[in-house]
Amino acid sequence: MTSMAVRNPRTGEQDYRFEAASAEQVREVVGAARRAQRTWAAGGIEHRNRALLAWADQLEKHGADIVDALSVDTGRQRISHEELGAIVHFLHGFCAAAPDVLATPFRKLPDHPDVVFKVTYVPYGVVGVISPWNFPLVLSFIDAIPALVAGAAVVIKPSEVTPRFVEPLRRSLAAVPELAGIVNLVQGGAETGQAVVAASDAVVFTGSVPTGRKIAVAAAQAFIPAFLELGGKDAAVVLAGSDVARAATSILRSALYNSGQVCYAIERVYAHASLYDALVAELVSQASTLRRSVAAGDGGHYGPMIFDRQGAIIDAQLDDAVAKGAKIVLGGNSEVRDGAVWVDPTIVTEVDHSMTLMTEETFGPVVPVMRFTDDDEAERLMNDSIFGLSGAVFGPDTHTAGDFATRMEAGGVSINDTELPRVMMFDGEKTAFKQSGMGGSRYGATSIMRYVRKRALLANEGAVPPLDKLSETAEYAPAH
Ligand code: NAD
Repeated sequence: MTSMAVRNPRTGEQDYRFEAASAEQVREVVGAARRAQRTWAAGGIEHRNRALLAWADQLEKHGADIVDALSVDTGRQRISHEELGAIVHFLHGFCAAAPDVLATPFRKLPDHPDVVFKVTYVPYGVVGVISPWNFPLVLSFIDAIPALVAGAAVVIKPSEVTPRFVEPLRRSLAAVPELAGIVNLVQGGAETGQAVVAASDAVVFTGSVPTGRKIAVAAAQAFIPAFLELGGKDAAVVLAGSDVARAATSILRSALYNSGQVCYAIERVYAHASLYDALVAELVSQASTLRRSVAAGDGGHYGPMIFDRQGAIIDAQLDDAVAKGAKIVLGGNSEVRDGAVWVDPTIVTEVDHSMTLMTEETFGPVVPVMRFTDDDEAERLMNDSIFGLSGAVFGPDTHTAGDFATRMEAGGVSINDTELPRVMMFDGEKTAFKQSGMGGSRYGATSIMRYVRKRALLANEGAVPPLDKLSETAEYAPAH
């Protein structure tokens, strides 16, 4: 076992350690999960729902400990509360959806009245889940919960950057004996993750494109499906005639939430020439009112970066942009203060697509704004990206903005607001376009179906066609 040191994002000190699971240990956990899963799947939907909802209660009971640990992991309190609330919500939502989504009635085949059939759903044995550090709890469970509801066991490997929440979370799980061997957490870095992929029956990964690509290759070699939820470079297009103040507020809410460490944060803005100056002025004026939150309860709006290396990535993009002619009109490069890495809300103008700031994922609170003169130019710019996670279009009315939104190569487009896919968790579906992901929709109750295979059971209630008809092609006569 390798001992890993963990940095505290508010102090910069390494004040926590954990033991990384070896490949051998991962195989043992997956083996035990595979054995336990048979009972879990055979128990049926009601049994699974009872256990999962009992765990939802335990999560609330252990909530203070989980949130405290998560707050240290990420340096933020309110969002840690939101994360806990979100997974309790996911448990209730997916459990409620399961009976309908997984229903398998017998049916007749219209062309073959003697044959009765039903499609049954056979869950994967063990689904490996690998998650990043920006929402450590939500992204460990957003896909694990539908997999559990489907009847699979899960082996989750959270990010090594934010592991403190695992211990209190395990205590909440221990209070529900039915989940022993069904919900498993293994800790470690890339090597532990590789072992999870190698041993699992399906894998769901949330993280960066380069790691996603490695996981896709490993999954192909292991011949298992990989569901990939990767990075983004979401564009906001502000068409002529838009409400500039509204667009600025909405763009900033998206770009600055969690200090920009969000896959679907707005990371580039294209503004029509008629309102470009007004929009930049509004962005600067509104963003200038926000303050760092240095201590709990100080009324500040944003915390330090969770992962210290993110500061260097943001600085490199800003330096590259400035060297090529960009102007930073608010904020700027990262600053280390008392061990914490801070990036203040940053607005950049005079940008173009020769700059990495406009093409690579930034994952920080930076809003570059570029001017366009006609809608075709805006379309070309917004789609000039390897990413296609989501985006936003602002216009004078829903119809105009909605028309333009259909031209965006992305899996979710908010109209006259940002981040609206968040509100459709159980009701809508969206897939990631281009390199932002692969493998169906995590949104919508049907995400449960990602974790099952379909087995058709067919019964012939009529006569078996006689052997002397072997040469005839249509043994089962069509119904008349
Ligand atoms: P990352 O890709 O560096 O790591 C993610 C996880 O993969 C970690 O647990 C890591 O230990 C593990 N890992 C690394 N190498 C591995 C390997 N070879 N095999 C198996 N596992 C391996 O990502 P990160 O820096 O933790 O997170 C930030 C990224 O996540 C950003 O790109 C962000 O856009 C993306 N993200 C995407 C979504 C989404 O829903 N699409 C949500 C949040 C974050």
